[in-house]
Amino acid sequence: MRVLAQFLTSASDETHFPPPGLPEIAFLGRSNVGKSSLINSLVGSKIAKTSSSPGRTQTINFFSIRWAGKPSPELIFTDLPGYGYARAPREVSAGWNRFIEPYLTRRPTLALCIALVDPNIPPQTSDQQLIAFLSLLQRPFLVVATKSDRLSNNQRAKSLAALGEAFGGTTIVPISVKSAAGRDELWRTIRTAASVSPVLLKS
Ligand code: GDP
Repeated sequence: MRVLAQFLTSASDETHFPPPGLPEIAFLGRSNVGKSSLINSLVGSKIAKTSSSPGRTQTINFFSIRWAGKPSPELIFTDLPGYGYARAPREVSAGWNRFIEPYLTRRPTLALCIALVDPNIPPQTSDQQLIAFLSLLQRPFLVVATKSDRLSNNQRAKSLAALGEAFGGTTIVPISVKSAAGRDELWRTIRTAASVSPVLLKS
C-alpha cells in the first residue's frame, strides 16, 4: 500500500484550523519522543520535520493522506507540537490554551489521538497528564511506545507494563521506525478508527 501525503496548512490559532472534513488522526508526544520519525515512517516520506531544536515553532500541521491510485484523500494527519520541554519559551505553553486544548476538546472530526511515549525512560508526568486529559474528554486514543528497538525483549516487556500501569491501565503498543516493528498494525488501527472502507484500501 502506497500512501501520498500532502501538507495542507499550519495553525497556531483555532481560527486557522481548516474546515472540518475528513477524519483526523492526531499525533502527540513530548519533544524528541520520535513523533516526526513515526509520521514520516507511516507515510514513507519526510513530511514531518525531525526536531533538532525542541520547542521551536508551535503549530498544528495538517497533512492530507491519500492512497496511491485513489482520486482524493481519505484521512488527515495532524502533527501537534511536542510538549514537556523544560526550556521551551513561554509562548509554547501559551499555545496549549490557544489552539492545542481547543483542538483536542472541540475538533469534530478528530477520530483518534496517538499519544507517543518513550519506553526507554520512566513514565513522565506530562504524558500522564495528556492521557488523563484525553480520557476525560472521552477521545479515542492509543498509546504507542516509540524506539522500542533500543530495548531487549525483557526490558521492553517490563517497561510496557510499568507505563501501562502509570497511564491508567491502558494498553501500550510498541513500535520502532528503525525495524518497522508495529507499523502495519498501527496503520490497521488508524484505518479502523477512521472507519475507512477496506475496499478503498486495496491499492
Ligand atoms: P520528535 O521531536 O518527537 O519529532 O522526535 P524525532 O522524530 O525528531 O526523533 C528524535 C530522535 O529519536 C531522533 O534522533 C530519531 O532518529 C530518534 N528515533 C526516533 N524514532 C526512533 C526509533 O524507532 N528507534 C530509534 N532507535 N531511534 C528513533
